[in-house]
Amino acid sequence: MTFKQYLHDHLAGIAWYVIGLALLCFGLWLDPRQRVRWDTLLYMAVLITGFAAVLLVWHYTRTKKWVKAFTDRTEAGVEALDWPLAASSNHERAAIIEAYNHVLREHRQAQSELIARQQDQKAFIDSWVHEIKVPLAAAGLLQDSLDGKAPEKPLDELALQLDKINFYVEQVLYYSRLDSFSKDYLLREYDLKPLVDGVIVDQRNSFIDRRISFALNGDSLTVVTDEKWLRFILGQLVSNALKYTAPGGQVTATIADAPTEATLTIEDTGIGIPSDELHRVFEKGFTGTNGRNANQRSTGLGLYLADQLSQKLGHHLTITSTVDQGTAVTIHFPHLSFYGESGTTLAKPAVKH
Ligand code: ATP
Ligand code: MG
Repeated sequence: MTFKQYLHDHLAGIAWYVIGLALLCFGLWLDPRQRVRWDTLLYMAVLITGFAAVLLVWHYTRTKKWVKAFTDRTEAGVEALDWPLAASSNHERAAIIEAYNHVLREHRQAQSELIARQQDQKAFIDSWVHEIKVPLAAAGLLQDSLDGKAPEKPLDELALQLDKINFYVEQVLYYSRLDSFSKDYLLREYDLKPLVDGVIVDQRNSFIDRRISFALNGDSLTVVTDEKWLRFILGQLVSNALKYTAPGGQVTATIADAPTEATLTIEDTGIGIPSDELHRVFEKGFTGTNGRNANQRSTGLGLYLADQLSQKLGHHLTITSTVDQGTAVTIHFPHLSFYGESGTTLAKPAVKH
């Protein structure tokens, strides 16, 4: 708060003071029983005004300090939520401080309750996922045991549906773990090729069912990542490629290395994404024209989770698409020039002979 602003706030008080002093001097000067000379009155008025000015400046410095206590908090961001105001002997300020600290306490309590409820929900989802996995695994074994004994077509359909249930159960699990990611990752060097192969094998039933072929281009490449999370990200990209490509199409994975980054692109020959929707596909819950037209259900969570997790791993996603021609989603693994720099792919230092 500047002195000008302070004066502006106290304009009414200053005006009353000036009017009061003028009336007093005028009254004394007009009173026939008082023999006060006008220059004495002026001297007294100047003296009193000087004293009042000193008081004003003293009050300004105190008020400024008090206002700063608030402005410091607005600059402190979220930390201000754990920063109550110190008590004051001034009754007016004490009332404001009490109200402010009371709001802080209430907010903290509401926040703790919310976090506890959220953790409860998370724990429930986690246990639900573990519970559901047992009958799912049992159903998988049952399906295997029926191999050769039951007609092939319904068995294949059963395998496909089980895969889909597993896929969505995983999605729920990863969605609930998004916030606790920092406690659950292990960065190591992984070869991209076996990782991609693993994801394709997981979704082989969908490839067969939709008669979509797969090709892997590029040389083997090592990146630093978390295997479990990257597999999940890849799973989402491959599942989209399968979901939005007509039977007989092609999905291609391309591994490439550049001076600044390694990339893995999952490309399809599917229906493509309208250009005005492309910038929204990483938004939570966005399904767009394709999602709404797809004969399967769409939650719009796949790319959102893939994008969020990529960022947490130090990678990032980009997407390009042409309607009726296909879509390509690229995972970028920026190279690190030395350990400790942000990004996750370690550039092997060039060895000079
Ligand atoms: P879910 O992944 O939860 O099953 P979803 O596939 O609809 O649902 P996202 O994976 O987040 O959700 O994708 C968001 C939207 O982006 C999709 O609904 C679809 O409109 C579009 N999209 C994503 N990938 C492709 C693709 N390969 N081809 C065409 N459209 C796509
Ligand atoms: Mg998807």
